[in-house]
Amino acid sequence: MNSVRVRFAPSPTGYLHVGGLRTALYNFLLAKHHGGSFIVRIEDTDQSRKVEGAIENLIESLRWAGVEFDEGPGKEGKYGPYIQSQRLKIYHDHVQRLLEKGEAYYCFCTSERLDQLRKKQAEAKEATIYDRHCRTIPFDEATKRAASGEQHTVRMKIPLDGELTFNDLIRGKVTIAYKILDDQVILKSDGFPTYHLAVVVDDHLMEISHVIRGEEWLPSTPKHVLLYKAFGWELPQFAHLPLLLNPDKSKLSKRQGDVAVEDYRTKGYLKEALINFVAFLGWNPGDEREIFPLADLIKEFSIEHINKSGSVFNIEKLNWLNQQHMKLKNENDLLALVKPLLDERGWTSFSDEYRKQVIALMKERVVVLSDFVTECAYFYEDPATYDEKAKAKNWTADSLNYLQKLKEKFEALNVFDAASIEAALRSAAEEFHVGAGKLIHPLRLAISGVGHGPSLFHMMEVLGKETSARRIRLALERLH
Ligand code: GLU
Repeated sequence: MNSVRVRFAPSPTGYLHVGGLRTALYNFLLAKHHGGSFIVRIEDTDQSRKVEGAIENLIESLRWAGVEFDEGPGKEGKYGPYIQSQRLKIYHDHVQRLLEKGEAYYCFCTSERLDQLRKKQAEAKEATIYDRHCRTIPFDEATKRAASGEQHTVRMKIPLDGELTFNDLIRGKVTIAYKILDDQVILKSDGFPTYHLAVVVDDHLMEISHVIRGEEWLPSTPKHVLLYKAFGWELPQFAHLPLLLNPDKSKLSKRQGDVAVEDYRTKGYLKEALINFVAFLGWNPGDEREIFPLADLIKEFSIEHINKSGSVFNIEKLNWLNQQHMKLKNENDLLALVKPLLDERGWTSFSDEYRKQVIALMKERVVVLSDFVTECAYFYEDPATYDEKAKAKNWTADSLNYLQKLKEKFEALNVFDAASIEAALRSAAEEFHVGAGKLIHPLRLAISGVGHGPSLFHMMEVLGKETSARRIRLALERLH
């Protein structure tokens, strides 16, 4: 395995799908595990599906996730260019080779004829497969017609009888009868190759050792194997990854949740958590460990531990992993990630020291980075409203009295830390002959505007004496 060269070959049709991230990650992990190279190749031979900005977007998502490539667009190596639309001459030369070897043929069928054929076959409940109408046109005649400008495609000549067997590192031996394979178009009438030709030519010329991709490409692999044979080339190893499933076991779809890597990034998931999560969608280390930084994934990854069956995308698992990876980060690291979000909200006037105190207090309680904004607003601004439910439950006619007294006690404190705040509150409770809860709940509502949160005394310590007193005063005015 010294010369592992693997690739991720997305089509630029939009964003990076989490399934794409998994494919990229497994390729990357195998390469790094063996000291090999990870290549990104853009497969844009279907120009009609091309989306402006998609290449930049894919590359940015990979970069964010830390799945860095060794060769690819913008990082040219000796096997470039790495964008298929810039390699058309290479494909044309290879199609010519196949034509001359009799492994491919010109097809002059019009799209009307093909539509009719498909319709007839569908009506007769037959497989919709090309009837090989042009396969018998003599090569010289076909070459002349093509050269004279007659519209054409080029098709593979699939053997008429027999079967093909190839090995897949995950599924084992796969056998398929030739008769169910179509004489696949390899060069379209617009002069672009189809995926099937381009992928084989590029994987060979780029010396790809392992083709690791989604299971949806398994049915195409026999055609690819035939093309390797037609060219007389050695096969790479194939590994087809199990499907990603929704919790109801249907194929993972946008309808049941986010599928774009950038959505998870925007929501405030850590790249470490997303990578850890995605790694486990179809792979496991063979033991009970679940929390894996990227370096450990590289160390442990092997194709042998990839599952055969589909993997359910379980968002609770991702949330849990995000919390675990959040705990692994120190306050400085978290601050660097959270600061831009706070700034965006306009909370720019707070010191880093203050923001770190908030982070330290909240880091065990939040799930995603954006919770440091949404769940922590009261650390940065006075509450504008008070939670109705908490108010109904905890605010009584006596609360006014209690809080008035508390405010005085707090203002008299020389040291405003959690311990002295708590002591002051307990002594007030004793004076009123009530349990501490009678004071804590309305106080929390006054201070934060909500009925839940971290330790109230620590929260107040972070907020400071002045802010705490102001909020009690505000609440007394507003709640009565
Ligand atoms: N271009 C294909 C895709 O969009 C790549 C399939 C392969 O890896 O061979 O997924």
